[in-house]
Amino acid sequence: MTAPVLPAAFGFLASARTGGGPAPDAAFATRGDRTVIGARLRRQSLAATLVHPPESIPETAHAQDADTAVLVAGELYNRAELLSVLPAGTAPEGDAQLLLELLHRYGPHAFRLVNGRFAALAQTGDRVLLATDHAGSVPLYVRLAPGEVNAATEAKTLAGDATTPRGFPLADARRVPGLTGVYQVPAGTVLDIGLESGTAEAHRTWTPPLARRVLPEREAVDAVRTALQRACAARVPAGGTPLVVLSGGIDSSGVAACAHRAAGALDTVSMGTDTADEFPEARTVAEHLGSRHREITVPTEDLLAQLPYAVWASESADPDIIEYLLPLVALYRALDGPPRRILTGYGADIPLAGMHREDRLPDLDTAVAYDMATFDGLNEMSPVLSAVTGHWTTHPYWDRDVLDLLVSLEAGLKRRHGRDKWVLREAMAGALPAETVLRPKLGVHEGSGTTSSFSALLVAHGVAEPSVHKAKQRVVRELFGRTVAAGRHPSGVSTAEVVRSVADGLARGAA
Ligand code: ATP
Ligand code: MG
Repeated sequence: MTAPVLPAAFGFLASARTGGGPAPDAAFATRGDRTVIGARLRRQSLAATLVHPPESIPETAHAQDADTAVLVAGELYNRAELLSVLPAGTAPEGDAQLLLELLHRYGPHAFRLVNGRFAALAQTGDRVLLATDHAGSVPLYVRLAPGEVNAATEAKTLAGDATTPRGFPLADARRVPGLTGVYQVPAGTVLDIGLESGTAEAHRTWTPPLARRVLPEREAVDAVRTALQRACAARVPAGGTPLVVLSGGIDSSGVAACAHRAAGALDTVSMGTDTADEFPEARTVAEHLGSRHREITVPTEDLLAQLPYAVWASESADPDIIEYLLPLVALYRALDGPPRRILTGYGADIPLAGMHREDRLPDLDTAVAYDMATFDGLNEMSPVLSAVTGHWTTHPYWDRDVLDLLVSLEAGLKRRHGRDKWVLREAMAGALPAETVLRPKLGVHEGSGTTSSFSALLVAHGVAEPSVHKAKQRVVRELFGRTVAAGRHPSGVSTAEVVRSVADGLARGAA
């Protein structure tokens, strides 16, 4: 089995029911064709709408036999490994079929074996399993109704009516603000729901490692290089050219080098604004690797006008996260042409504590432990960010094996010889220009001027400096209310108007 150019399905809205009924449909932020899937099992039925790239074979996102059915959005990366535990000669037609075979062998524990970027719904007997990948990188939401489990990869598609039950039969279930009865499935979890009983249990399939490995420098560096190369090789399109979103920082440049090595060809693209860009740094890497490179400049005014799109796509109400995601959403929206498979350098800083410059190792490891304990639910890696224009993204640093390795390295390998992310920089030293390897970190929200221009917009509307963060929080919350909770299309939501009303509200509060 080789990786298809794009997954069979990007997302779904599905209803598992004791009775029958039509497939639910709703407005996804994800762009793509729709295919309706229906299935009748012994004790329940499935009615679902898949959203998928025009060229995919959506039927392979679904598999079933008499008593079990699987629906999957996204893709698996350790297919060969998974196949090796199944009887010789098993030749599944797609990831759903592969998961179905694994479910027969391992039950719900099947999901512990998987290294992927996916959200899945599995029905077996009278139970419904909702599974996320280790990182929850494809968000998955659920709403229960009597005799019915509704699940979707976008919360907005689960908006209920007045009869929607409010609660969820699980003590610490994560509510989605503004969407009554809608809950998010945690990362690395199988939610096991009894369709008739309405009970639910959560089983973890992955947790961040707590132990730290002590390795000789060379061994650690080689292990990181090997793991990243494998993760990139599993993510490049079979017979196609991968596209890397490139800042010229060590993280995306490392991915670019590995993707180029795996695919033999590479496209890269960088975004900047009229106030800031990292174009020279990215060009250095593109020239070194010989990639076909493109630069896209988004005027700052256009960038900020796209805030409603960033919130609508990510379904995140966290203003800091939105500042990281906005420039990328603007970049993906500017990428015209056919749907692409895109690799990013997103997330390397979390296991490597790249955002923390402390020389004290206890502080560094505290940061790693904290960030690994709090990433869940932020939707930073949601595929919807690029799927709004039909593109599929994947993040090699959050490959399960890469992540397990990076998190578990002792802090002194992350900060060494006075350099941050030392082990990664050293691993990539042979493949990239020295100036790239040595380049200090610059976040995309800084490199594109997003943080400062969002602040400037608020200040221009009369928000006092000390209230700027609070104002950002309110703006993002209001945008979340309109585009996610109320389900309005972002083209009809104006950043300027929301900023004005938040600024006025703050001014009234201060008076
Ligand atoms: P990097 O070292 O690659 O810059 P980083 O740790 O600094 O990564 P961010 O800058 O926050 O992290 O960006 C996360 C990812 O988003 C990058 O790895 C890259 O894939 C993409 N990205 C960031 N900035 C740009 C940009 N200006 N143009 C294109 N892609 C970008
Ligand atoms: Mg950067």
